[in-house]
Amino acid sequence: MAASTGSSPYNRIILKLSGESFAPSGQRGISMTEVVDIASQTVRAAQQGVEIGIVIGGGNILRGAQFTAGANSIQEATAHYMGMLATVINGLALQDALESLGAATRLMTAIKMDGVAEPFIRRRAKRHLEKGRIVIFAAGTGAPFVTTDTAAAQKALELECDILMKATRVDGVYSDDPETNPNAVLYEELTYQQVREQELRVMDSTAIAHCMEHDLPILVFNYRRDGNIERAVRGEPIGTRVISRSATTA
Ligand code: UDP
Repeated sequence: MAASTGSSPYNRIILKLSGESFAPSGQRGISMTEVVDIASQTVRAAQQGVEIGIVIGGGNILRGAQFTAGANSIQEATAHYMGMLATVINGLALQDALESLGAATRLMTAIKMDGVAEPFIRRRAKRHLEKGRIVIFAAGTGAPFVTTDTAAAQKALELECDILMKATRVDGVYSDDPETNPNAVLYEELTYQQVREQELRVMDSTAIAHCMEHDLPILVFNYRRDGNIERAVRGEPIGTRVISRSATTA
């Protein structure tokens, strides 16, 4: 990896990548073209001198909720465990993509999987990050009934990150779905309270609650604009920031 340029206001961040970022628009599965594209943006962002942990989703392969509608023979918890395993498949793809670009990486899982990845141990994860490795966190929280958004908030808190960056397919948080409503308004800044009261689709409610309780800023931005991960890491004003009320009125 190239030497750090030291131009990030952040020391350590969590980047939440949804599984859909691994598939071409509207498709499922893994396209290594997409994975290498997002990996290369991430490597360039790491060269700004920021420590990066990535929490990876699994929605391009499987979400637990897809099995829970109607009567069927799969238990809801089982379906969620299947979703967590999907994130490990994505994690392996992302690790190889990052390493093909020269980055040092580690893949850590919340469900122990000897022979595939390291188990998540907080102190070890911090050491990896301090050494400049890009650490991928897979298998979510290791527990069913939540999503990888909650895992991202938890990892950001326990690893003492400065911000949680959620990479999405749109430019930030809108008043309505911009993909279906052309009049939807993009917010530059919101408070956690506004997100909750207006039921804005930022992250799942448990994740928002964690961030709000611990005053952890969230940035929602568009990963599909090339260079946006670097811009986000440099602290440029892109996307939507979600912060506490006191910070907005300060
Ligand atoms: N999941 C879970 N516990 C977790 C994280 C994920 O049970 O801590 C399951 C859940 O079923 C979820 C699936 O794994 O739908 C895939 O994760 P997610 O939906 O967050 O993926 P993304 O939408 O980010 O691609």
